Amino acid sequence: TFASDAVAGNQKNSGRAHFVLVPLMAQGHTIPMTDMARLLAEHGAQVSFITTPVNASRMAEFINCIGAIGLPIQFVKLHFPATEFGLPDGCENVDMIKSKDLFKNFIEACAALREPLTAHLRAQIPPPSCIISDMTHWWTADIARELGTPRLTFSGFCGFSSLVRYIIIRDNLLEKVEDENELINFPGFPTPLELPKARCPGNLSVHGLDQIRKNIYEEEIRCSGVVMNTFHDLEDLYIDSFEQISGKKVWTVGPMCLCNQDSKTVAARGNNASMDEAQCIQLLDSMKPGSVIFVSFGSLACTAPHQVVELGLGLEASKKPFIWVIKAGDKFPEVEKWLAEGFEERVKDRGIIIRGWAPQIMILWHQAIGGFMTHCGWNSTIEGICAGVPMITWPHFAEQFLNERLVVDVLRTGVEVGVKGVTQWGDEQKEARVTRDDVEIAVSKLMDQGEAADEMRMRARDFGLKATKALKKGGSSSNNIDLLIQEMGRKTSG
Ligand code: UDP
Repeated sequence: TFASDAVAGNQKNSGRAHFVLVPLMAQGHTIPMTDMARLLAEHGAQVSFITTPVNASRMAEFINCIGAIGLPIQFVKLHFPATEFGLPDGCENVDMIKSKDLFKNFIEACAALREPLTAHLRAQIPPPSCIISDMTHWWTADIARELGTPRLTFSGFCGFSSLVRYIIIRDNLLEKVEDENELINFPGFPTPLELPKARCPGNLSVHGLDQIRKNIYEEEIRCSGVVMNTFHDLEDLYIDSFEQISGKKVWTVGPMCLCNQDSKTVAARGNNASMDEAQCIQLLDSMKPGSVIFVSFGSLACTAPHQVVELGLGLEASKKPFIWVIKAGDKFPEVEKWLAEGFEERVKDRGIIIRGWAPQIMILWHQAIGGFMTHCGWNSTIEGICAGVPMITWPHFAEQFLNERLVVDVLRTGVEVGVKGVTQWGDEQKEARVTRDDVEIAVSKLMDQGEAADEMRMRARDFGLKATKALKKGGSSSNNIDLLIQEMGRKTSG
Protein backbone atom coordinates (compact mmCIF):
# COMPACT_ATOMS: atom_id res chain seq x y z
CA THR A 1 0.00 0.00 0.00
CA PHE A 2 1.08 3.54 -0.58
CA ALA A 3 0.89 5.72 2.44
CA SER A 4 -0.29 8.71 0.47
CA ASP A 5 -3.49 6.98 -0.53
CA ALA A 6 -4.36 6.30 3.04
CA VAL A 7 -3.00 9.13 5.07
CA ALA A 8 -2.58 12.09 2.76
CA GLY A 9 -2.99 15.17 4.78
CA ASN A 10 -2.58 13.84 8.25
CA GLN A 11 1.05 12.84 8.24
CA LYS A 12 2.36 14.49 11.38
CA ASN A 13 5.77 16.04 11.17
CA SER A 14 7.42 14.88 14.32
CA GLY A 15 9.78 17.84 14.49
CA ARG A 16 12.10 16.47 11.84
CA ALA A 17 12.95 18.30 8.66
CA HIS A 18 10.54 17.16 5.96
CA PHE A 19 11.81 17.00 2.37
CA VAL A 20 9.55 16.71 -0.65
CA LEU A 21 11.34 15.11 -3.59
CA VAL A 22 9.90 15.61 -7.07
CA PRO A 23 11.92 13.66 -9.64
CA LEU A 24 11.68 13.85 -13.40
CA MET A 25 10.25 10.49 -14.33
CA ALA A 26 13.18 9.24 -16.36
CA GLN A 27 15.41 6.51 -14.94
CA GLY A 28 18.53 8.67 -14.91
CA HIS A 29 16.72 11.29 -12.81
CA THR A 30 14.41 9.15 -10.68
CA ILE A 31 16.98 6.57 -9.58
CA PRO A 32 19.31 9.12 -7.95
CA MET A 33 16.29 10.74 -6.29
CA THR A 34 15.34 7.40 -4.72
CA ASP A 35 18.88 7.24 -3.39
CA MET A 36 18.52 10.80 -2.14
CA ALA A 37 15.29 9.89 -0.34
CA ARG A 38 17.01 7.03 1.35
CA LEU A 39 20.03 9.06 2.40
CA LEU A 40 17.94 11.90 3.81
CA ALA A 41 15.79 9.44 5.74
CA GLU A 42 18.81 7.55 7.04
CA HIS A 43 20.24 10.83 8.27
CA GLY A 44 17.08 11.57 10.23
CA ALA A 45 14.80 13.51 7.87
CA GLN A 46 11.27 12.70 6.85
CA VAL A 47 10.71 12.37 3.10
CA SER A 48 7.76 12.55 0.72
CA PHE A 49 8.65 11.05 -2.65
CA ILE A 50 6.33 12.19 -5.42
CA THR A 51 5.55 9.61 -8.07
CA THR A 52 2.78 8.25 -10.29
CA PRO A 53 1.06 4.84 -10.46
CA VAL A 54 3.11 3.37 -13.31
CA ASN A 55 6.39 4.59 -11.85
CA ALA A 56 5.41 3.35 -8.41
CA SER A 57 4.75 -0.11 -9.75
CA ARG A 58 8.15 -0.13 -11.42
CA MET A 59 9.67 0.77 -8.07
CA ALA A 60 7.56 -1.73 -6.15
CA GLU A 61 10.58 -3.77 -5.06
CA PHE A 62 12.33 -0.66 -3.83
CA ILE A 63 9.24 0.58 -2.00
CA ASN A 64 8.94 -2.80 -0.29
CA CYS A 65 12.58 -2.69 0.75
CA ILE A 66 12.17 0.79 2.23
CA GLY A 67 9.07 -0.40 4.09
CA ALA A 68 10.95 -3.40 5.44
CA ILE A 69 13.82 -1.23 6.67
CA GLY A 70 11.27 1.09 8.27
CA LEU A 71 12.59 4.36 6.87
CA PRO A 72 10.26 7.40 7.08
CA ILE A 73 9.68 7.80 3.35
CA GLN A 74 6.16 8.34 2.12
CA PHE A 75 5.54 7.50 -1.55
CA VAL A 76 2.91 9.92 -2.84
CA LYS A 77 1.18 8.63 -5.97
CA LEU A 78 -0.41 11.33 -8.09
CA HIS A 79 -2.55 10.61 -11.13
CA PHE A 80 -0.52 11.38 -14.27
CA PRO A 81 -2.67 13.01 -16.96
CA ALA A 82 -1.06 11.25 -19.94
CA THR A 83 -4.06 11.05 -22.25
CA GLU A 84 -5.10 14.63 -21.47
CA PHE A 85 -1.81 15.70 -23.01
CA GLY A 86 -1.86 13.50 -26.09
CA LEU A 87 0.24 10.68 -24.66
CA PRO A 88 -0.81 7.05 -24.66
CA ASP A 89 -2.50 5.89 -21.49
CA GLY A 90 0.12 4.79 -18.96
CA CYS A 91 2.96 6.69 -20.64
CA GLU A 92 4.41 8.04 -17.41
CA ASN A 93 8.15 7.86 -17.98
CA VAL A 94 10.49 9.45 -20.52
CA ASP A 95 11.67 5.99 -21.55
CA MET A 96 8.12 5.21 -22.70
CA ILE A 97 7.90 8.18 -25.09
CA LYS A 98 7.90 6.90 -28.64
CA SER A 99 8.99 10.08 -30.42
CA LYS A 100 11.00 13.01 -29.18
CA ASP A 101 8.29 15.40 -30.35
CA LEU A 102 6.12 14.03 -27.57
CA PHE A 103 8.66 15.18 -25.00
CA LYS A 104 6.95 18.55 -24.84
CA ASN A 105 3.62 16.84 -24.11
CA PHE A 106 5.30 14.84 -21.39
CA ILE A 107 6.80 17.91 -19.74
CA GLU A 108 3.44 19.69 -19.91
CA ALA A 109 1.69 16.69 -18.37
CA CYS A 110 4.24 16.87 -15.55
CA ALA A 111 3.42 20.55 -15.04
CA ALA A 112 -0.23 19.58 -14.63
CA LEU A 113 0.77 17.83 -11.40
CA ARG A 114 1.00 21.31 -9.91
CA GLU A 115 -2.60 21.36 -8.62
CA PRO A 116 -2.74 17.91 -7.01
CA LEU A 117 0.72 18.35 -5.53
CA THR A 118 -0.15 21.74 -4.10
CA ALA A 119 -3.31 20.30 -2.58
CA HIS A 120 -1.37 17.44 -1.05
CA LEU A 121 1.30 19.69 0.41
CA ARG A 122 -1.13 22.31 1.68
CA ALA A 123 -2.62 19.63 3.87
CA GLN A 124 0.70 18.92 5.57
CA ILE A 125 0.97 20.34 9.06
CA PRO A 126 3.48 21.83 9.54
CA PRO A 127 4.37 22.61 5.92
CA PRO A 128 7.33 20.77 4.41
CA SER A 129 10.80 22.14 5.14
CA CYS A 130 12.16 21.93 1.62
CA ILE A 131 11.25 20.91 -1.90
CA ILE A 132 14.00 19.29 -3.95
CA SER A 133 12.77 19.00 -7.50
CA ASP A 134 14.20 18.16 -10.87
CA MET A 135 15.27 21.26 -12.78
CA THR A 136 12.66 20.47 -15.44
CA HIS A 137 9.86 20.86 -12.86
CA TRP A 138 10.05 24.65 -12.90
CA TRP A 139 6.41 24.83 -11.69
CA THR A 140 7.36 23.40 -8.30
CA ALA A 141 8.95 26.79 -7.61
CA ASP A 142 5.45 28.33 -7.50
CA ILE A 143 4.37 25.72 -4.99
CA ALA A 144 7.46 26.39 -2.89
CA ARG A 145 6.73 30.11 -2.87
CA GLU A 146 3.12 29.52 -1.93
CA LEU A 147 4.16 27.34 0.99
CA GLY A 148 7.04 29.59 1.99
CA THR A 149 9.41 26.67 1.54
CA PRO A 150 12.86 26.74 -0.09
CA ARG A 151 13.21 24.99 -3.44
CA LEU A 152 16.47 23.30 -4.31
CA THR A 153 17.03 22.03 -7.83
CA PHE A 154 18.49 18.73 -8.94
CA SER A 155 19.69 18.30 -12.50
CA GLY A 156 21.49 14.99 -12.24
CA PHE A 157 24.62 16.66 -13.64
CA CYS A 158 28.08 16.63 -12.05
CA GLY A 159 29.84 19.89 -11.15
CA PHE A 160 31.92 19.97 -14.35
CA SER A 161 28.86 19.65 -16.61
CA SER A 162 26.68 21.90 -14.45
CA LEU A 163 29.23 24.66 -14.84
CA VAL A 164 29.41 24.30 -18.63
CA ARG A 165 25.63 24.24 -18.85
CA TYR A 166 25.40 27.34 -16.68
CA ILE A 167 27.86 29.27 -18.87
CA ILE A 168 26.08 28.17 -22.05
CA ILE A 169 22.77 29.48 -20.75
CA ARG A 170 24.19 32.64 -19.20
CA ASP A 171 26.01 33.67 -22.38
CA ASN A 172 23.47 32.24 -24.80
CA LEU A 173 26.35 30.41 -26.45
CA LEU A 174 24.44 27.98 -28.64
CA GLU A 175 22.29 30.61 -30.32
CA LYS A 176 25.34 32.59 -31.33
CA VAL A 177 26.73 29.71 -33.38
CA GLU A 178 25.15 28.39 -36.59
CA ASP A 179 27.47 25.57 -37.54
CA GLU A 180 27.02 22.39 -35.51
CA ASN A 181 30.72 21.62 -35.87
CA GLU A 182 32.00 24.98 -34.73
CA LEU A 183 34.02 24.78 -31.54
CA ILE A 184 32.64 26.59 -28.54
CA ASN A 185 34.70 28.05 -25.71
CA PHE A 186 33.26 28.58 -22.26
CA PRO A 187 34.28 31.92 -20.74
CA GLY A 188 35.21 31.55 -17.09
CA PHE A 189 35.56 27.76 -17.19
CA PRO A 190 38.59 27.04 -14.99
CA THR A 191 40.44 24.57 -17.25
CA PRO A 192 40.94 24.42 -21.02
CA LEU A 193 37.83 23.12 -22.77
CA GLU A 194 36.24 23.47 -26.14
CA LEU A 195 33.50 21.42 -27.71
CA PRO A 196 31.60 21.45 -31.00
CA LYS A 197 28.13 22.92 -30.68
CA ALA A 198 26.56 19.56 -31.51
CA ARG A 199 28.11 18.04 -28.37
CA CYS A 200 26.90 20.70 -25.97
CA PRO A 201 24.04 20.04 -23.55
CA GLY A 202 20.85 21.88 -24.46
CA ASN A 203 21.42 21.35 -28.16
CA LEU A 204 18.52 18.94 -28.53
CA SER A 205 16.01 20.56 -30.81
CA VAL A 206 12.53 19.57 -29.76
CA HIS A 207 9.57 21.35 -31.23
CA GLY A 208 7.88 23.82 -28.89
CA LEU A 209 10.34 23.50 -26.04
CA ASP A 210 11.63 27.09 -26.06
CA GLN A 211 9.14 28.57 -23.60
CA ILE A 212 9.50 25.61 -21.26
CA ARG A 213 13.28 25.99 -21.38
CA LYS A 214 12.90 29.65 -20.50
CA ASN A 215 10.70 28.81 -17.52
CA ILE A 216 13.20 26.23 -16.36
CA TYR A 217 16.14 28.66 -16.52
CA GLU A 218 14.25 31.47 -14.83
CA GLU A 219 13.31 29.27 -11.93
CA GLU A 220 16.82 27.90 -11.65
CA ILE A 221 18.04 31.45 -11.18
CA ARG A 222 15.52 31.97 -8.38
CA CYS A 223 16.06 28.67 -6.55
CA SER A 224 17.55 28.49 -3.07
CA GLY A 225 20.36 26.14 -3.97
CA VAL A 226 21.46 23.12 -5.96
CA VAL A 227 21.86 19.50 -4.90
CA MET A 228 24.55 17.56 -6.78
CA ASN A 229 25.30 13.88 -6.95
CA THR A 230 29.04 14.29 -6.72
CA PHE A 231 31.72 14.75 -4.05
CA HIS A 232 34.40 17.27 -3.32
CA ASP A 233 37.48 15.08 -3.72
CA LEU A 234 36.35 14.23 -7.23
CA GLU A 235 35.97 17.66 -8.82
CA ASP A 236 36.21 20.41 -6.21
CA LEU A 237 37.58 22.92 -8.73
CA TYR A 238 34.38 22.75 -10.80
CA ILE A 239 31.99 22.58 -7.88
CA ASP A 240 33.59 25.64 -6.31
CA SER A 241 33.63 27.50 -9.63
CA PHE A 242 29.97 26.71 -10.13
CA GLU A 243 29.17 28.14 -6.71
CA GLN A 244 31.17 31.27 -7.43
CA ILE A 245 29.91 31.88 -10.93
CA SER A 246 26.27 31.01 -10.33
CA GLY A 247 26.10 32.44 -6.83
CA LYS A 248 24.14 29.34 -5.77
CA LYS A 249 24.83 27.26 -2.71
CA VAL A 250 25.77 23.75 -3.83
CA TRP A 251 25.05 20.74 -1.65
CA THR A 252 27.26 17.87 -2.81
CA VAL A 253 25.75 14.72 -1.37
CA GLY A 254 27.16 11.97 -3.57
CA PRO A 255 27.90 9.43 -4.73
CA MET A 256 24.32 8.75 -3.70
CA CYS A 257 24.31 5.28 -5.24
CA LEU A 258 26.53 4.15 -2.36
CA CYS A 259 23.51 4.12 -0.06
CA ASN A 260 22.64 0.79 -1.69
CA GLN A 261 24.63 -1.65 0.36
CA ASP A 262 22.21 -4.49 0.94
CA SER A 263 21.89 -7.06 -1.82
CA LYS A 264 18.13 -6.59 -2.12
CA THR A 265 18.14 -2.87 -2.96
CA VAL A 266 21.24 -3.27 -5.11
CA ALA A 267 19.42 -5.80 -7.25
CA ALA A 268 16.07 -3.96 -7.24
CA ARG A 269 17.40 -0.58 -8.29
CA GLY A 270 15.37 1.28 -10.89
CA ASN A 271 13.37 -1.51 -12.39
CA ASN A 272 12.78 -5.19 -12.16
CA ALA A 273 15.87 -6.89 -13.54
CA SER A 274 15.32 -9.00 -16.60
CA MET A 275 17.64 -11.74 -15.47
CA ASP A 276 18.14 -14.00 -12.54
CA GLU A 277 20.37 -12.28 -10.00
CA ALA A 278 21.60 -15.47 -8.38
CA GLN A 279 22.68 -16.81 -11.75
CA CYS A 280 24.45 -13.57 -12.55
CA ILE A 281 26.35 -13.54 -9.27
CA GLN A 282 27.28 -17.18 -9.64
CA LEU A 283 28.74 -16.46 -13.00
CA LEU A 284 30.66 -13.40 -11.84
CA ASP A 285 31.97 -15.35 -8.87
CA SER A 286 33.46 -17.86 -11.28
CA MET A 287 35.43 -15.16 -13.15
CA LYS A 288 38.92 -13.92 -12.31
CA PRO A 289 38.95 -10.59 -10.40
CA GLY A 290 39.27 -7.61 -12.70
CA SER A 291 38.94 -9.72 -15.84
CA VAL A 292 35.47 -8.79 -17.16
CA ILE A 293 34.37 -5.75 -19.09
CA PHE A 294 30.85 -4.51 -18.42
CA VAL A 295 29.06 -2.74 -21.28
CA SER A 296 25.90 -0.73 -20.65
CA PHE A 297 24.52 2.43 -22.21
CA GLY A 298 21.92 3.50 -19.64
CA SER A 299 18.19 3.77 -20.04
CA LEU A 300 17.62 6.15 -22.98
CA ALA A 301 20.51 6.07 -25.43
CA CYS A 302 19.54 4.03 -28.43
CA THR A 303 22.57 2.80 -30.33
CA ALA A 304 22.10 2.38 -34.07
CA PRO A 305 21.97 -1.27 -35.22
CA HIS A 306 25.19 -1.14 -37.27
CA GLN A 307 26.93 0.29 -34.22
CA VAL A 308 25.63 -2.47 -31.98
CA VAL A 309 27.11 -4.96 -34.44
CA GLU A 310 30.49 -3.17 -34.51
CA LEU A 311 30.50 -3.09 -30.71
CA GLY A 312 29.83 -6.82 -30.56
CA LEU A 313 32.52 -7.65 -33.11
CA GLY A 314 35.00 -5.47 -31.25
CA LEU A 315 34.23 -7.25 -27.99
CA GLU A 316 34.65 -10.57 -29.73
CA ALA A 317 37.99 -9.53 -31.22
CA SER A 318 39.22 -8.31 -27.82
CA LYS A 319 39.02 -11.90 -26.51
CA LYS A 320 38.11 -10.54 -23.08
CA PRO A 321 35.18 -11.80 -21.00
CA PHE A 322 32.27 -9.37 -21.07
CA ILE A 323 28.75 -8.68 -19.84
CA TRP A 324 26.80 -6.64 -22.36
CA VAL A 325 23.43 -5.05 -21.69
CA ILE A 326 21.27 -4.63 -24.78
CA LYS A 327 18.19 -2.77 -23.67
CA ALA A 328 14.75 -3.16 -25.12
CA GLY A 329 15.13 -0.07 -27.31
CA ASP A 330 18.14 -1.54 -29.08
CA LYS A 331 16.26 -4.62 -30.09
CA PHE A 332 16.09 -3.91 -33.75
CA PRO A 333 15.21 -7.06 -35.65
CA GLU A 334 18.49 -6.92 -37.55
CA VAL A 335 20.43 -6.88 -34.28
CA GLU A 336 18.52 -9.87 -32.93
CA LYS A 337 19.11 -11.69 -36.18
CA TRP A 338 22.81 -10.94 -36.11
CA LEU A 339 23.11 -12.04 -32.47
CA ALA A 340 21.34 -15.28 -33.23
CA GLU A 341 23.25 -16.01 -36.42
CA GLY A 342 26.45 -17.09 -34.75
CA PHE A 343 27.62 -14.26 -32.50
CA GLU A 344 26.14 -15.59 -29.27
CA GLU A 345 27.38 -19.07 -30.08
CA ARG A 346 30.90 -17.85 -30.83
CA VAL A 347 31.28 -15.91 -27.58
CA LYS A 348 29.26 -18.16 -25.29
CA ASP A 349 32.25 -19.20 -23.20
CA ARG A 350 33.13 -15.67 -22.17
CA GLY A 351 30.30 -13.34 -23.07
CA ILE A 352 26.91 -12.78 -21.50
CA ILE A 353 24.22 -10.67 -23.10
CA ILE A 354 21.50 -9.23 -20.88
CA ARG A 355 18.42 -8.17 -22.80
CA GLY A 356 16.40 -5.53 -20.99
CA TRP A 357 17.11 -4.13 -17.56
CA ALA A 358 20.29 -5.20 -15.79
CA PRO A 359 21.05 -4.96 -12.08
CA GLN A 360 23.81 -2.54 -13.02
CA ILE A 361 25.45 -1.69 -9.72
CA MET A 362 25.24 -5.29 -8.58
CA ILE A 363 27.32 -6.27 -11.61
CA LEU A 364 29.55 -3.21 -11.76
CA TRP A 365 30.60 -3.46 -8.14
CA HIS A 366 31.50 -7.14 -8.36
CA GLN A 367 35.22 -7.82 -8.08
CA ALA A 368 35.24 -9.68 -11.41
CA ILE A 369 34.62 -6.42 -13.28
CA GLY A 370 37.80 -4.76 -14.49
CA GLY A 371 36.44 -2.15 -16.89
CA PHE A 372 33.22 -0.39 -17.80
CA MET A 373 32.19 0.71 -21.27
CA THR A 374 29.64 3.47 -20.65
CA HIS A 375 27.57 6.05 -22.52
CA CYS A 376 28.67 8.53 -19.81
CA GLY A 377 25.27 9.28 -18.32
CA TRP A 378 26.27 10.82 -15.01
CA ASN A 379 24.72 8.09 -12.89
CA SER A 380 26.55 5.37 -14.75
CA THR A 381 29.74 7.41 -14.66
CA ILE A 382 29.66 7.94 -10.92
CA GLU A 383 28.67 4.31 -10.37
CA GLY A 384 31.77 3.38 -12.36
CA ILE A 385 33.84 5.77 -10.26
CA CYS A 386 32.52 4.07 -7.10
CA ALA A 387 33.44 0.69 -8.57
CA GLY A 388 37.02 1.94 -8.85
CA VAL A 389 37.35 0.66 -12.41
CA PRO A 390 38.61 2.48 -15.52
CA MET A 391 36.12 3.28 -18.25
CA ILE A 392 35.71 3.31 -22.01
CA THR A 393 33.59 6.31 -22.96
CA TRP A 394 30.98 6.12 -25.72
CA PRO A 395 28.78 9.21 -25.28
CA HIS A 396 25.57 9.56 -27.30
CA PHE A 397 23.90 12.88 -26.43
CA ALA A 398 23.11 15.53 -23.76
CA GLU A 399 25.88 16.23 -21.28
CA GLN A 400 27.46 12.84 -21.88
CA PHE A 401 30.22 14.42 -23.99
CA LEU A 402 31.16 16.62 -21.04
CA ASN A 403 31.27 13.70 -18.66
CA GLU A 404 33.58 12.01 -21.16
CA ARG A 405 35.96 14.97 -20.95
CA LEU A 406 35.88 14.84 -17.15
CA VAL A 407 36.73 11.12 -17.12
CA VAL A 408 39.32 11.16 -19.89
CA ASP A 409 41.07 14.54 -19.44
CA VAL A 410 40.55 15.51 -15.81
CA LEU A 411 40.27 12.32 -13.79
CA ARG A 412 42.31 10.39 -16.38
CA THR A 413 40.53 7.16 -15.52
CA GLY A 414 39.26 6.29 -18.97
CA VAL A 415 39.85 6.13 -22.69
CA GLU A 416 37.54 7.27 -25.46
CA VAL A 417 36.21 4.77 -27.92
CA GLY A 418 36.34 7.66 -30.41
CA VAL A 419 32.77 8.66 -31.14
CA LYS A 420 32.79 10.97 -34.12
CA GLY A 421 29.26 12.33 -34.15
CA VAL A 422 26.26 12.77 -31.92
CA THR A 423 23.43 10.28 -31.55
CA GLN A 424 20.61 12.58 -30.53
CA TRP A 425 17.82 11.07 -28.53
CA GLY A 426 15.20 10.13 -31.08
CA ASP A 427 17.56 10.41 -34.10
CA GLU A 428 19.53 7.26 -33.52
CA GLN A 429 20.15 6.35 -37.11
CA LYS A 430 22.35 9.34 -37.78
CA GLU A 431 25.15 8.16 -35.57
CA ALA A 432 28.67 8.53 -36.87
CA ARG A 433 30.76 5.44 -37.00
CA VAL A 434 32.68 3.66 -34.31
CA THR A 435 34.38 0.64 -35.82
CA ARG A 436 35.09 -2.79 -34.37
CA ASP A 437 38.77 -1.87 -34.40
CA ASP A 438 38.06 1.23 -32.30
CA VAL A 439 36.33 -1.00 -29.76
CA GLU A 440 39.07 -3.61 -29.75
CA ILE A 441 41.79 -0.99 -29.32
CA ALA A 442 39.94 0.74 -26.48
CA VAL A 443 39.34 -2.54 -24.66
CA SER A 444 42.96 -3.50 -24.91
CA LYS A 445 44.13 -0.05 -23.74
CA LEU A 446 41.90 -0.50 -20.72
CA MET A 447 42.33 -4.13 -19.80
CA ASP A 448 45.85 -5.01 -20.85
CA GLN A 449 48.99 -4.73 -18.76
CA GLY A 450 51.40 -1.86 -19.25
CA GLU A 451 52.32 1.28 -17.43
CA ALA A 452 49.59 3.53 -18.81
CA ALA A 453 46.82 1.03 -18.07
CA ASP A 454 48.22 0.28 -14.61
CA GLU A 455 48.31 3.98 -13.75
CA MET A 456 44.78 4.47 -14.98
CA ARG A 457 43.63 1.55 -12.86
CA MET A 458 45.42 2.94 -9.83
CA ARG A 459 43.81 6.34 -10.24
CA ALA A 460 40.39 4.73 -10.70
CA ARG A 461 40.87 2.66 -7.56
CA ASP A 462 41.91 5.75 -5.65
CA PHE A 463 38.79 7.68 -6.70
CA GLY A 464 36.73 4.64 -5.71
CA LEU A 465 38.17 4.79 -2.20
CA LYS A 466 37.61 8.54 -1.99
CA ALA A 467 34.02 8.06 -3.12
CA THR A 468 33.37 5.61 -0.31
CA LYS A 469 34.99 7.96 2.18
CA ALA A 470 32.82 10.90 1.10
CA LEU A 471 29.62 9.16 2.11
CA LYS A 472 30.93 7.47 5.28
CA LYS A 473 30.23 9.15 8.62
CA GLY A 474 32.44 12.24 8.81
CA GLY A 475 33.00 12.33 5.04
CA SER A 476 32.29 15.50 3.06
CA SER A 477 29.01 14.38 1.50
CA SER A 478 27.77 12.74 4.67
CA ASN A 479 28.44 15.98 6.55
CA ASN A 480 26.65 17.95 3.85
CA ILE A 481 23.54 15.80 4.20
CA ASP A 482 23.53 16.48 7.95
CA LEU A 483 24.02 20.22 7.35
CA LEU A 484 21.27 20.31 4.74
CA ILE A 485 18.82 18.62 7.11
CA GLN A 486 19.82 20.96 9.94
CA GLU A 487 19.52 24.07 7.83
CA MET A 488 16.15 23.19 6.33
CA GLY A 489 14.85 21.96 9.69
CA ARG A 490 15.85 25.25 11.29
CA LYS A 491 14.00 27.20 8.62
CA THR A 492 10.84 25.23 9.36
CA SER A 493 10.98 25.59 13.11
CA GLY A 494 12.19 29.18 13.05
N1 UDP B 1 20.52 1.18 -15.14
C1 UDP B 1 20.34 -0.08 -14.60
N2 UDP B 1 20.16 -1.12 -15.45
C2 UDP B 1 20.15 -0.99 -16.80
C3 UDP B 1 20.34 0.31 -17.34
C4 UDP B 1 20.53 1.37 -16.48
O1 UDP B 1 20.35 -0.25 -13.37
O2 UDP B 1 19.98 -1.98 -17.51
C5 UDP B 1 20.67 2.33 -14.22
C6 UDP B 1 22.09 2.78 -14.09
O3 UDP B 1 22.73 2.07 -13.04
C7 UDP B 1 21.92 4.25 -13.77
C8 UDP B 1 20.65 4.63 -14.52
O4 UDP B 1 19.98 3.42 -14.78
O5 UDP B 1 21.70 4.43 -12.39
C9 UDP B 1 20.93 5.32 -15.85
O6 UDP B 1 21.30 6.63 -15.62
P1 UDP B 1 22.44 7.36 -16.45
O7 UDP B 1 22.55 8.74 -15.92
O8 UDP B 1 23.67 6.56 -16.44
O9 UDP B 1 21.93 7.33 -17.94
P2 UDP B 1 20.56 7.71 -18.68
O10 UDP B 1 19.73 6.50 -18.62
O11 UDP B 1 19.96 8.89 -17.95
O12 UDP B 1 21.03 8.04 -20.05
